[in-house]
Amino acid sequence: QSQELSQVQIDYHAALQALVEDGTRMVCTGRMHTDRICRFESLCYSTEAEEFVYFHSNSSVMLPNLGSRRFQPALLDLSSVEDHNTQYFNFVELPAAALKFMPKPVFVPDVALIANRFNPDNLMHVFHDDLLPIYYTMQQFSDLDLEARLFFMEGWSEGVHFDLYKLLSNKQPLLREQLKTLGRLLCFTKSYVGLSKITTWYQYGFVQPQGPKANILVSGNEIRQFTKFMMQRLNVSLEESSSEEYIVVFSRTINRLILNEAELILALAQEFQMKTITVSLEEHSFSDIVRLISNASMLVSMHGAQLVMSLFLPRGATVVELFPYAINPEHYTPYKTLATLPGMDLQYIAWQNTDREDTVTYPDRPWDQGGIAHLDKAEQERIIKSTEVPRHLCCRNPEWLFRAYQDTKVNIPSLVHVIRQTVKSKPGPKKQKWSGSLYPGKVRDAKCQASVQGTSEAKLAVSWQIPWNLKYLKVREVKYEVWIQEQGENTYMPYILSHQNHTFSENIKPFTIYLVWIRCIFNKNLLGPFADVLLCST
Ligand code: UDP
Repeated sequence: QSQELSQVQIDYHAALQALVEDGTRMVCTGRMHTDRICRFESLCYSTEAEEFVYFHSNSSVMLPNLGSRRFQPALLDLSSVEDHNTQYFNFVELPAAALKFMPKPVFVPDVALIANRFNPDNLMHVFHDDLLPIYYTMQQFSDLDLEARLFFMEGWSEGVHFDLYKLLSNKQPLLREQLKTLGRLLCFTKSYVGLSKITTWYQYGFVQPQGPKANILVSGNEIRQFTKFMMQRLNVSLEESSSEEYIVVFSRTINRLILNEAELILALAQEFQMKTITVSLEEHSFSDIVRLISNASMLVSMHGAQLVMSLFLPRGATVVELFPYAINPEHYTPYKTLATLPGMDLQYIAWQNTDREDTVTYPDRPWDQGGIAHLDKAEQERIIKSTEVPRHLCCRNPEWLFRAYQDTKVNIPSLVHVIRQTVKSKPGPKKQKWSGSLYPGKVRDAKCQASVQGTSEAKLAVSWQIPWNLKYLKVREVKYEVWIQEQGENTYMPYILSHQNHTFSENIKPFTIYLVWIRCIFNKNLLGPFADVLLCST
């Protein structure tokens, strides 16, 4: 089976000698445990102790060398979920001489990426926390190619979506449990530990209520490069855009149901004059779902992890997210944030059930399916009366779970009305031209010339040249912003100008030093950098 490691032949004695003589070498990127990824040579793992081991020897390197700060709280996060205390990585240290008394090491010849999956049974978590971060961590380090091997250390079994993880490299990923079968002391010849967080867009509410990450660094372009890779690995080809347009309803079959799904499908088909189909994770293969979604004009679904599949929608498509009664769409925005990332080019619409008559609750189910029977009577009554779940932390808020697992009869006229406010004619992939957004460079050769008229009036003539990259671009509108600031003052006078020179006379005093800041703006909202400040004395 492909669990076998010895696909690359290594000289065992040479490897052992190198480990004893050279020890472990580690060099990391990142300043804090939350943004650190480490590259190791000869990092070992004791499957008995379930600990990573760093061997000190003549040539060992440990950068950063944090001393005991390595435990405050950890060297790094093993998952892409930030600073979660169940996801920390560290190692124990030993002198290489201790190897004499230890089990014979088994060497892992593949370049390894060692990380934790966060919640491999939930599709949103699979894509957002694992697949995208693994893919872009592999892009960051060139020896993490398709021949690299993934090691998942979180301790879960494969999970229902393991086939997706297998797409990321040609080698079978290995789980923590399986390492025991390989040996008592494993030594990774070359390994990377940790995941890049650069593609994540959502925080799940462990320390503050859930919401978009504060500083999102990913755009639709990188998301779509990833989905292109996944589709190639899944053997799903993008069909010709000439084929028929259609709407996909992504349904859940176990809970959080749409109770009038047949009526909904008929209504959508009628309203938009398009074929409307349903898919579900229970009834369709993953490839089929990707194939269908990647050509759809609109995706309609209950709030839930399956909506992460809007990753695969074509540009110009519409996402319609349905929220059960008492759940404020603004408070749960993982899919809205995704759909509205710059360059995703999707339209996002939220609909909420506001009618108590149209909801079905399940107070007697187990707590993790939204039951509230375990709570005291007063609390149960408060929850049942409440019209909106207040903001809360992850992950066991009973009021949230109670409302999240309601079934909903969708009010069709209300839904159609909400969609029609955004989708005026036919929804779907418009052959829109590339709306790529390139920013201007600095303006060049900025100059100023002052002239004084009498004791109270002065003028400042300022001129500059276009940014260097403009001559290679077709830009609809080019404007310049000029700020005039009197030296020593906090405030400035801003101007938006269309030409490359201007003479300022308003509020310009004689015998004063002005700082002049100039930048170029493309198409109203693409702001370039300011050129070096100009000092102008009147
Ligand atoms: N799921 C599903 N059908 C269902 C209920 C759940 O396919 O009827 C999937 C869901 O998309 C997710 C996983 O099962 O991948 C866990 O669902 P859960 O309700 O726990 O999470 P949520 O969707 O609220 O994130």
